[in-house]
Amino acid sequence: MSTNAPTNSPAPTAPLACPHGLKQICSTFGDIFQYILPDHCLDPRWQTEFLTRIALPFPLALSWDKSRSVTQMTCHKLMTGIFTDVFARLQGEGLQEKLTSFGGCFCFRPQRTGTSLSAHSWGIAIDLNPETNAQGSAGNMDPGVIRIFRAAGFEWGGDWQTKVRDPMHFQFCAGY
Ligand SMILES: [Zn+2]
Repeated sequence: MSTNAPTNSPAPTAPLACPHGLKQICSTFGDIFQYILPDHCLDPRWQTEFLTRIALPFPLALSWDKSRSVTQMTCHKLMTGIFTDVFARLQGEGLQEKLTSFGGCFCFRPQRTGTSLSAHSWGIAIDLNPETNAQGSAGNMDPGVIRIFRAAGFEWGGDWQTKVRDPMHFQFCAGY
């Protein structure tokens, strides 16, 4: 038997599958728990090893300071193509006016023991229009925006049934 048989490893351009559950999130996007320091803060190596800044095709007002806008955001390196495609589609379908503000993508908040980390810790979630889509509310997220995120593999927080719904929130993971 030849030892040079071709392997079935996926091509580098294979689409990234949406991970299900914490174990798959860690195996896909990195085991963040190895980067949480004894004081519960995040080791800066997490950002340098796993995160990157991507350009947005149009400026978005900052939800916490609408006098400022962003044209870049920090996300997981593996999400570069996915977020870039989503924003291009939103713009291509004329939906950018439906995005009234940017509420953040990567964000790490130290957690008490026993509470789970937000998908924002991996830079795989984004909050949009938080001023009109508060946690627990029905919100007013545009159906076209929801459709484009879903088509790209995202879960929408407005669909959550077993935890407090979060209509500002889209995340590239499920079962978490
Ligand atoms: Zn969120």
